Amino acid sequence: MTVSKRPSRTLQGSIIPIHYNLKIVPCPVNFSFLGVCSIEICIAEPTFIITLHAKELNIQTASTRDHILNGYNITATSVSYNVEEETITLEFPEILHAGPSWILDVTYIGLVNDKLNGFYRSVYTDADNNVHQLTTTQFQSTHARRAFPCWDEPAIKATFSLTLVAPQGVTCLSNMSVETITQLENGMQEVSFMKTPIMSTYLLAWAIGDFDFIEAYTSGDYNGEKIRCRLYAPVGLADQGHYSLDLAVKAIEYFSRLFNIPYPLPKLDLVAVPDFAPGAMENWGLIMFRTYALLIEEYGSQERKHEIAATVVHEISHQWFGNLVTMEWWSDLWLFEGFATHLAYIVVDELFPGWDIWSEFVKRIQEVLKHDSLRTSHPVEVGVANPSEITQIFDEISYMKGASVLRMLSAWLGQNQLLLGIRKFIHKYMWSNANTDDLWVTLAEECKVDVPGFMSKWTRQTGYPVLSITELDTSTILVRQSLFLSTDDVREEEDTLIWPVPLGLATASDPTPRNIMMDTKEIILKVDTTQWYKFNMGQTGFYRVSYPSKTLGLLGQTFGTEQLDTANRVGLLTDVAALVASGIAPTSSFLTLLKYFEDEQDYLVWAEISIRLQELLAVWLEQPEPIMNGLKEVQRRLFTKIVKRLGWDCPEGEDSAIVNLRAVAIRFAGRAGDPEILAEARRRFRAFMKDKNAAAIPPDLRFPVFEIVLRSTEGVDEYEDVVNYYRETFIPAEKVVALSVLGYGNSLELVRRTLAFAMSTEVRTQDILSAIATLRSSVVGRAELWNFMRHHWDVLYERHRGDIGFLDYFVVLSIESFSTLERYHEVQAFFANKDTSEYDRILATCLEGIRMNILWLERDCMNVEEWLRSNGYLATEHGSIENLSIGHNNNGLPAKAVIQDLGAANGLLGHDLASGAAAAAAATAVVAGRPAGLIKGGMSPSVSASITGTSSGDSSGTSTPANSTHYPQGGLYSQHGTYAQSQVYADIAGQGPEEQARQLLLLQKDQQQHELRMQREFQLQQQQQQQPEQARHGQGHGYTHDPNYLNQAQDQRPRSLEHDMELLSMSGDYKF
Ligand SMILES: [Zn+2]
Repeated sequence: MTVSKRPSRTLQGSIIPIHYNLKIVPCPVNFSFLGVCSIEICIAEPTFIITLHAKELNIQTASTRDHILNGYNITATSVSYNVEEETITLEFPEILHAGPSWILDVTYIGLVNDKLNGFYRSVYTDADNNVHQLTTTQFQSTHARRAFPCWDEPAIKATFSLTLVAPQGVTCLSNMSVETITQLENGMQEVSFMKTPIMSTYLLAWAIGDFDFIEAYTSGDYNGEKIRCRLYAPVGLADQGHYSLDLAVKAIEYFSRLFNIPYPLPKLDLVAVPDFAPGAMENWGLIMFRTYALLIEEYGSQERKHEIAATVVHEISHQWFGNLVTMEWWSDLWLFEGFATHLAYIVVDELFPGWDIWSEFVKRIQEVLKHDSLRTSHPVEVGVANPSEITQIFDEISYMKGASVLRMLSAWLGQNQLLLGIRKFIHKYMWSNANTDDLWVTLAEECKVDVPGFMSKWTRQTGYPVLSITELDTSTILVRQSLFLSTDDVREEEDTLIWPVPLGLATASDPTPRNIMMDTKEIILKVDTTQWYKFNMGQTGFYRVSYPSKTLGLLGQTFGTEQLDTANRVGLLTDVAALVASGIAPTSSFLTLLKYFEDEQDYLVWAEISIRLQELLAVWLEQPEPIMNGLKEVQRRLFTKIVKRLGWDCPEGEDSAIVNLRAVAIRFAGRAGDPEILAEARRRFRAFMKDKNAAAIPPDLRFPVFEIVLRSTEGVDEYEDVVNYYRETFIPAEKVVALSVLGYGNSLELVRRTLAFAMSTEVRTQDILSAIATLRSSVVGRAELWNFMRHHWDVLYERHRGDIGFLDYFVVLSIESFSTLERYHEVQAFFANKDTSEYDRILATCLEGIRMNILWLERDCMNVEEWLRSNGYLATEHGSIENLSIGHNNNGLPAKAVIQDLGAANGLLGHDLASGAAAAAAATAVVAGRPAGLIKGGMSPSVSASITGTSSGDSSGTSTPANSTHYPQGGLYSQHGTYAQSQVYADIAGQGPEEQARQLLLLQKDQQQHELRMQREFQLQQQQQQQPEQARHGQGHGYTHDPNYLNQAQDQRPRSLEHDMELLSMSGDYKF
C-alpha cells in the first residue's frame, strides 16, 4: 500500500541530471540576477524536447551538446513556459540521441525576490546604524526552481558546483568549502565552491552578505578528522552564538557515533539570517536559522535555551536523516521531520539530563492532540502533489504527531532497538532516497516484530483513540477504545476504527508500567480499583484516557507525592481539559480538578494549567463581566500564592525551573488583576523605562511585566515606552518581547496603533504575526483585528501570497478565537468567494474550532456559572467573594466528594463519545504570547524571531542620504561602487566580446519586461511609500528600484505612531 500522491509526471523520466554547474551573478543595480547553468544530463530515450522545472526565470539562451560524441551546439528553437506546472520545455531542431554525456547550457535572468523563498534578499542594521544588504536562499520544498532551472524533486539527486559573484570583501557561503576566489578588476570577486556530494535540489543553498563569525572544531574522534564548525551572524551579534555552536559540535559527534557514519561534508556552518521564514532549514553543510532561533544572550532565558537546543540538534540530525538519506517524495516528509524531532529530544535528554525534556515534550504535543481531534485533521502520511499542497503539510501533524507516534514505537520496541534499526536504515539507503515502508521493513527485520502493522494504523488513520474505563467490580475493569473527536458526529463506520494501543498500565502496588498491547475494541483487565491505577504511564502513548470519577479522585490525591511524575500529572490535567472541551465531561470537573494542584511545585505543570485556563477564558471572553471576573479570581488565587512564595527577585544561580515558574506566576496573577502584583509591575516598569535601570526587570520577567502594565492602563505613555524600547534595543529577543506585548494595549486607540505599527516598515514581514497575535486577548482587539483583515484582505493577499506561513496564520489569528454564531457566519461569508487554495486546510480547521467553541460555551455556560457561584467565586449581594480551598466545597463535603463531580459525565464513557465538542485552537497563542507558526525547527513554534534595528529617526534627509556606505542606493551592492548594469554583467559573466554584446542586447530587451514584473511586485509598496513619503515630507530618495524595501532599514521618517497612522491612512492600503 502506498500513500504518495505524486503528481502525474510533469518531467520526463528518461532524462536524468548528473551534475549542475551553476554560476549566479546578482545585478548590482536592481534586484535581478544572471544565472549561467550548465547541466550534465543522461538521455535514455531519443527526444526533441527537454522539460525541467523553472519558476519566474526568463530564459535567455538554451542549447545542448553531447560533449563526448560530437560536441557541437544544438540551440533550442523555442522555450515554452508552463506556469501552472512551474516548468519550461525547450524544443530542439534535431533529435537528441540517447546518451550519457549531454550538457544542457542555459542562461537566464531571475529575480532576487523579497518573498523569503527561492533566491531572496534581506537587510539589517547593525548597532552603529550601518545598513547591510544580504541575499540568501530557501529552496525547500519547491523553490530551487526560482533560482535555477532544474529537476526539482527530492528523488532526483545530483551533484552541484556553484560559483557566486559578489563584491570583494563580502562573505559568500554555500554548502561546501570555498575552492577558489578570483578577484575581478571591477571590484567584484568570483567565489567557487567545492563540488557537493550527490543530493536533492532543495538542499542546495548560498548566502552573500556581511557576517561576523565564530568557529569551533569537533574532536575528530568520530570523523577521522576534525570538522570545522562556524556560526555566522549579522555584524556585531556573533558573540551570542557560543551556546549554539557548542551544541552543534556536540551534536555532530553524537550523530556520527550514533549512525556510525562520519559527518559527510568537510564543514558545517550555522547562519543566523535576519529575514527567514521557517524557524530553521537543514541545507547540507549550511544550516540557516532565524536569528531568534540561533542566537542567545548570556543571560537569555532557560526556556529559550531549551528551544534553541532542540532546534539546533534537530537540524543537525537532518544532515544524515534527510540529507544523506532523503525522502522519496514529500508525502514522506513526516517521517524525516518526525524522526528529526524525536532524535533531537533523545540527544538533548542525553546532553542535559536535568532538563526533564520529555515532560516538555508531553506539554508540547497537546496542541497537536487538539488539532488531531478535529474532523479537519489529516493522517500523518498524506498524499501531496502540487506545491501548495506540499507547503500545507509542514504542520504540527507532520512534525509533532510524527514525533509522537515514533516515541510510542520507541517505548514499545525499546529506544536502543529503535536506534539500531535507524542506523541500519541509514546505511542501507545512504546517498539515496527511501520511503516510510522502507523504514518499517528495516525496523521489523531488526526488531523481529510487526512494525508496519503497528505503525500503519497510527500514520494512515486520521485522529487517535480515547480509552474509556468502566469499573466492573473492585478487581475488574473494562477498557474500550473509540475515536476521539471533538465534534459530536462520530459516524457508525468510524466507531469501528481500532488502533494498536500500548496501554502502559501502572497501579499503586506496581507503578512500573505493564506493556500490554490493546488491539481490540474492548479488553477486560484485572486491576485493584480501590487504589489508583493509570494508563499511559510516562505519557509515551498518543491517546487520551477517561477515568471513572472515583479513580480520578484517587489519582488527584497522589499529587504532591512522588507517585506520579511531572509528565503524568501534565497528562492527567490535559486529558481532563480535552474531555471537558469535547463535552465528555462538564467544565466544572476541570475547575474542580485544579484544586488538587494548589500545592504543585513544578513549572511545567503550572505552565500547562495556565494554558488550559486561558483556553477556557478565551472562549468565555465575551461572557458577562461577573462571570469573567469569577474565572479570573480562580486564576488569581492559584497564581498569587506562588508569587508570594517565590517573591520577585531571582537569587544568583537560581534553578531555571524556579525562574520560569516565577515568571508564569507573576504573569497570570497579574493578568487576573492582583492589585499588589500590578503595583509592583508598574513600579518596576517605571524604573526600567524612565530611570533606565535594566536590573529592575530581569530578562525572564520582561514579558510578564510589560504585559501586565499595558493590560492595566489605557494610557499611551507606557505604550510609547515599549515602542521606543523596541526601536532602541538591538537584542533580537528583547525586540520580540517588546513587539509581542504591544497587542495588550488596552483601548481601541492602542489596538489600532498596534495594527498600524505591525504593518509599518518598522516591522519585518516575518514578525508581523507576533505583533498582532496578542490582540486577540481582548474583546476590542479581537474585533478590530477581524475588521482589519476583512478591510485589507485584497492588499494582504496580493502582498503576501506565497510568503511561507503568512496568509494562513494571519487567517488563524484573525478568526480562531471566535465563539459566537454571528462571527461564524461572518467568517463563512467572507471567505465564500475567495481563492482559499493556499490556506484551505487551516481555514477549515479554524471554522471547525469556532463551531466547537460555540458548542462548548452553549453547553457549559450555566455549568460554569453554577460552579463559580457554589464555590464562592461570584460576588455575593454584599460584594464579597467567598474563598474555597481544597478539602471543602459549598456543601461542606470533603475534597474527595468534590472530585466526584469530575466523573459526572464519565458515566457516559464509551457510550456517548459522540456528544462532545471541543474548543479547537482557542487560546494557545494568547497564552504563548505568539502564534503557532510554521516550524521547521525542532521546537517551539515561535513565529516571532529576530528583528534587526531600524535606523535612527532623522527627518532632515534630502533626496539622497549623504553617506552611501550606510545607505545603499537602489541595487544590491551599489554601496561598494557604481557600475552600469550592462558593464557589470559583461565583466562578470566572463564571456568573449561577441558574447558580451549579445548578452547586452538580450539584457536590454529583457529589461523592459523585467521592470514590468518588478513594478507589479512592488506596486503596492510604492503606492504606500511614495505618496505620503514624498508628498508629505518632500523626501525623494532617488532609488531606482523598490525604494520601499530598502527604506525598511533606512527610513528617515519621524518615528511616531501618529506618523505611522497618518502614513497608513494616506496610503489607501492599510487604512481603517
Ligand atoms: Zn526538520
